[in-house]
Amino acid sequence: MRLIRNAVPKPVKVLAVVKADGYGHGAVQTARAAIAGGADMLAVAAVSEGAELREAGIMLPILVLGAVTAYDVSDGVRYSLTQTVCSPEMAELCEKAAAEQDKQTKVHLKIDTGMGRIGIRHENERDRILETLRSCPHVQLTGVFTHFSDADGDEDGIRYTRKQYERFLQMIEPLPKGIIRHCCNSAAIHRFPEMALDMVRAGISLYGYPPVPDTFGLVPCMTWKAAVSYVKELDADASVSYGRKYKSEKPIRTATVTCGYADGYHRACWEKGYVLIHGQRAKILGRVCMDQLVADISGIENVRPGDEAVLMGKCGSESITAEDIAGWAGTISYEILCSSAGRVERVYTESYTERSK
Ligand SMILES: *Cc1c(COP(=O)(O)O)cnc(C)c1O
Repeated sequence: MRLIRNAVPKPVKVLAVVKADGYGHGAVQTARAAIAGGADMLAVAAVSEGAELREAGIMLPILVLGAVTAYDVSDGVRYSLTQTVCSPEMAELCEKAAAEQDKQTKVHLKIDTGMGRIGIRHENERDRILETLRSCPHVQLTGVFTHFSDADGDEDGIRYTRKQYERFLQMIEPLPKGIIRHCCNSAAIHRFPEMALDMVRAGISLYGYPPVPDTFGLVPCMTWKAAVSYVKELDADASVSYGRKYKSEKPIRTATVTCGYADGYHRACWEKGYVLIHGQRAKILGRVCMDQLVADISGIENVRPGDEAVLMGKCGSESITAEDIAGWAGTISYEILCSSAGRVERVYTESYTERSK
């Protein structure tokens, strides 16, 4: 966060995206670290995630990126979350909930400039919402934003992003002055500093995985470890794990590791993946099971039950990144980071326990 904060010009605010449990790192700890690093605002996907941060004592403004729903709009108001509106009906839901609680509530308007997800696309929708908001005394419009769909893309993606940006500027032109305008995600923060406007939204980069080449010096935050639970010798022609997908050609030594797909380790990793034991690569043998996987430690000396198996992170001079795992599993680093499951204990090497500003 500090590196991103320093790279973005001072008058531009930096919002830290801590949705999906802080991209799997733990929402509250991540939020506290981001605040310590200079975040001006936080964002979550859903009201329930914002409520968790408030319950932990975090007072910074929090934007809910998902659209307002009748189901939790009242909680959004109760927890003083800034909610996202993209229809007159959503503005009215906010007004009703805020009036009932005799409270003022803040909203940001979402504009769809080419993502095709939530957000308004046309001037007439914008004007109808603005008109509705004028009759919502409990609702304050404090921001407007859009989201890029291809800011990390090739040249065509770059052109498309520029078009999205131009469209955003057009759509926000008649909005009242002083509201916070924001459009940059991580890729755009790195690639299009000229699009920063009043605030940028840093997600994946905060966790050390910038989606485009990085000049800020970011490093991955998360290390994921399990333990060796068992070591044994297998004869030639022994099969390992379900479906007998792996069969040893010669005698080998294996380590069983306490991690499986129920921990969020992708089952698809087995064909290409490895773990690190004693600083060396140990290839995964056969399918990843629910709670265990088996690795080849034939070339690795003195492995014993209780030894560390690094699934992601550094070990000696070797390292495995979320991008490596994503490559084995046919997905992206984002999905790897937020997939480690609830039973995987999180240990923080630096804690930010002070109450936030
Ligand atoms: C998730 C999200 C972000 C963060 O995206 P990164 O690519 O992780 O930086 C920003 N804005 C919105 C609307 C999002 O949903």
